[in-house]
Amino acid sequence: MRNVYLDYSATTPVKEEVLKEMIPYFTEKFGNPSSLYDKGLEARDAVTHAREQVAALINADPSEIFFTAGGTEADNWAVFGATDKLKEKGNHIITTKIEHHAMLHSCAFLEKHGFDVTYLDIDKDGRVDLQQLKDSITDKTILISVMMVNNEIGTVQPIKEIGKIAKEHKILFHTDAVQALGNVPIDVKDMGIDLMSMSSHKIYGPKGEGALFIRKGVRISNYLHGGAQEAGRRAGTENLTGIVGFGKAAELARVHFDEHVKHSSTLRDYLVERILNEIPDTTLNGTMEERHPGNANITFKYIEGESILLLLNQFGISVSTGSACSSKSLEPSHVLVALGVPVEMIHGTVRFTVGDFTTKEDIDYVVDCLKQVVTRLRELSPINEKKGW
Ligand SMILES: *Cc1c(COP(=O)(O)O)cnc(C)c1O
Repeated sequence: MRNVYLDYSATTPVKEEVLKEMIPYFTEKFGNPSSLYDKGLEARDAVTHAREQVAALINADPSEIFFTAGGTEADNWAVFGATDKLKEKGNHIITTKIEHHAMLHSCAFLEKHGFDVTYLDIDKDGRVDLQQLKDSITDKTILISVMMVNNEIGTVQPIKEIGKIAKEHKILFHTDAVQALGNVPIDVKDMGIDLMSMSSHKIYGPKGEGALFIRKGVRISNYLHGGAQEAGRRAGTENLTGIVGFGKAAELARVHFDEHVKHSSTLRDYLVERILNEIPDTTLNGTMEERHPGNANITFKYIEGESILLLLNQFGISVSTGSACSSKSLEPSHVLVALGVPVEMIHGTVRFTVGDFTTKEDIDYVVDCLKQVVTRLRELSPINEKKGW
């Protein structure tokens, strides 16, 4: 049976070149980067090199990159570090209804501890309204956090405009760029970003590694306390192999950026076109303008997305409903709710995300299997147009 992985937004395989770079750092080059003898310096040099590789991908200075244990820690550090540092100034945060749970659940925690959070709406294309953002700012606002690219519907937010608004009001601006990294051009200087979260395993690097960009001069409280690693700002012995792998993945993402975007978007467009044309009662969620190049989020009316997922799995195909993080709950996706998709349609929604190892043959196989699966499920389905669809 064919195996087709179409869930690149959940995670990606580690590329051969990345793994090759990492291996020596498990064995002969295993030193602690804090040690002062040669073996430590060798490890320290590797961390320094990786920092340069990550910085180059986003036009940052290497001294502005702080390695973390992934995107979740970077989001937590940004929001807790910023609010702790600035709590004397105010207690108001502005974010959106469609953030990753790493942000939303952190904000919910802060709400229990005296902070006020404004959750911005999105329009039918999935974008925040800049006027609503401006109107939400008060003299107590200390942080604006808007994700660069959404993980479910792939929408790219007007980050540069938001950065400008934040700067005009002298408010710190954080963006979760985990899905954006390697998929849309990022220039932290041009976009006016103060804090930015990144993750390695979404760009063909290893899991459990990521980084927070902190603009030079921006002070936020530390989140992990202990040793003086990461210029005294993030404690804990560095995940040396993870950092080396993330660095290499970032370099590959930078060097092959155009190729990657073209490959992904060509196959994604082909997938969307075939599904919408060949399978009746299907709709695409979100706009095709300014969208993650690999993302397709499609509703199949009258059936359950979970059933589609499980039957496709029997054909060796991996897709997801909502995000991987919320798949264990039966709650309808908060992103599709915010987009205004009716609840019964949300339940019929599947996210397909293509990437560097996807081929046209994979897409053809998936569409062929989808046709069978959707037909079978609709024949079995007790819900149909007459019952309120
Ligand atoms: C995957 C993801 C995260 C979490 O990153 P991890 O490295 O898996 O902790 C955060 N935000 C977004 C938008 C993501 O897609």
